[in-house]
Amino acid sequence: MKGVRFEFATATRIVFGPGVLAELGEIAAGMGRRALVVTRRTPERAGAARERLEAAGVACVAFSVTAEPTVGDVRRGADFARAEGAEIVVACGGGSAIDAGKAIAALLGNGGDPLAYLEVVGRGQPLTKPSLPFIAVPTTAGTGSEVTRNAVLASPEHRVKASLRSPLMLARAAIVDPDLLLGLPSPVVAASGLDAFAQLVEPFLSIRANPMVDALCREGLVRSARSLRRAFEGDSSEPVRVDLALASLFGGLALANAGLGAVHGFAAPVGGMFDAPHGAACAALLPAVLRVNLEALSRRRPESPALARYREIAAIVTRRPDAVAEDAVAWTESLVRALAIPGLSRWGAGEGDVPALVAKARAASSMKGNPIELEESELAEIARASL
Ligand SMILES: [Zn+2]
Repeated sequence: MKGVRFEFATATRIVFGPGVLAELGEIAAGMGRRALVVTRRTPERAGAARERLEAAGVACVAFSVTAEPTVGDVRRGADFARAEGAEIVVACGGGSAIDAGKAIAALLGNGGDPLAYLEVVGRGQPLTKPSLPFIAVPTTAGTGSEVTRNAVLASPEHRVKASLRSPLMLARAAIVDPDLLLGLPSPVVAASGLDAFAQLVEPFLSIRANPMVDALCREGLVRSARSLRRAFEGDSSEPVRVDLALASLFGGLALANAGLGAVHGFAAPVGGMFDAPHGAACAALLPAVLRVNLEALSRRRPESPALARYREIAAIVTRRPDAVAEDAVAWTESLVRALAIPGLSRWGAGEGDVPALVAKARAASSMKGNPIELEESELAEIARASL
């Protein structure tokens, strides 16, 4: 690497802390008087958000997505918002709701069809105009989507997921309130928490890693490692919720500015070909990706700086300064087992799907950040071991 050079971009404003949802109304009222409120499936979880908006004089129209958003959902949402005269978009929910809201806000600002702008399966035209003002309120601790500049959309006819991506899609405000994590079911805690963990590990090992993102990853890994297992076992105390919310936020900041790797490279086709939620797919893929990447680096690129980073991750998660690189893999394997994450076969993937998964993972944008270019046989090994 020739010296240090990086850029860092994020939401215009990040408001973090237990109870900060109370500030939503005032923040939104400064941007518009009529909000499209995007939620996942049932809008109850967004009830408190709507109350805050309405109390501040912001009228709400509701739009919900039934699952991870599709190109069709976003098309419908944008048409509905236009018909209703929405001036801002507020997304309240997990990554599905936030990605849907982010994509709808981008379309409202730019016009046209989502396929015009979508990577991989669409025409990939750049967005040229600002999104409608967009506020993200995460209610899970996993995706970090409140601070990323892309929205992942499923294209059912192509059986793949792809992103709308532009710096113009960054939220005007991210309101991250750890109190909203109260009452999350433990399988959601597990899958979303391991997605956040993967989003701290992959940018830290990425070929685009930089000192600013490294600092966020180190801090996020400490918090995730000490609190995720406790949260899964039922500890919903405030310090644990703060740790999970910060790990998720820092993972989002990291991935948006340093890229990802093979976990997310595979997660895109897994989510497109099967009905696997993003977090569950990432969690199932994480142990094999860490192991195969470490073996490939040790064998073919023993000079790679990623190897020292494996040792550093191992020391952070095990809290043993003398930990070796392999300990990072073993610790992660045992966490994924303890959190009862099923293999990809749970979602219908089988041995016969390995070649298609490998071919699609190779083309995924996330794969570009992987610390080493994996060979065909190594990619197949990851897919097979994750079934
Ligand atoms: Zn992820």
